[in-house]
Amino acid sequence: MWAKNIDKKKKKKSNRTMENQCEECIPAKCCMYFSVEIDEPEDKGDWDDMLWILAHRDAQIYMDEERWFVIVNNPCRFYDPIIGCMIYPKRPRICRSHTWDSCEFKDDYDFELHFHNYEELERYIRNNISE
Ligand code: SF4
Ligand code: SF4
Repeated sequence: MWAKNIDKKKKKKSNRTMENQCEECIPAKCCMYFSVEIDEPEDKGDWDDMLWILAHRDAQIYMDEERWFVIVNNPCRFYDPIIGCMIYPKRPRICRSHTWDSCEFKDDYDFELHFHNYEELERYIRNNISE
């Protein structure tokens, strides 16, 4: 399931005060990545599949509130730092439904588990997942 609108990132704290925060948010954080929910790993094979995901450049995996996600830190090709969204009137549904609640502007995130790369996950499996 696509995750942008159901979010994913656990907010540690929020100190938003600006009224026009999208104008101050350059580049727009919400356009700099995408994330997709994945199944919770249940056996050694599932953990191995997650290694395959993290073998790919820019991919990370995190778990929060028992939900697992792949996040890919690649900017949307339709984002322009001057213009903003170049396809705004016809932007995809996920962009249109991105709400104030899930806006990441100025927030810090605190996931229960976060694997930034292959080696981190490999070490976690070695130390925590039994055969
Ligand atoms: S919705 Fe939030 S993250 Fe996206 S551009 Fe506006 S302030 Fe930035
Ligand atoms: S389509 Fe527009 S709003 Fe959606 S991620 Fe790309 S730049 Fe952002």
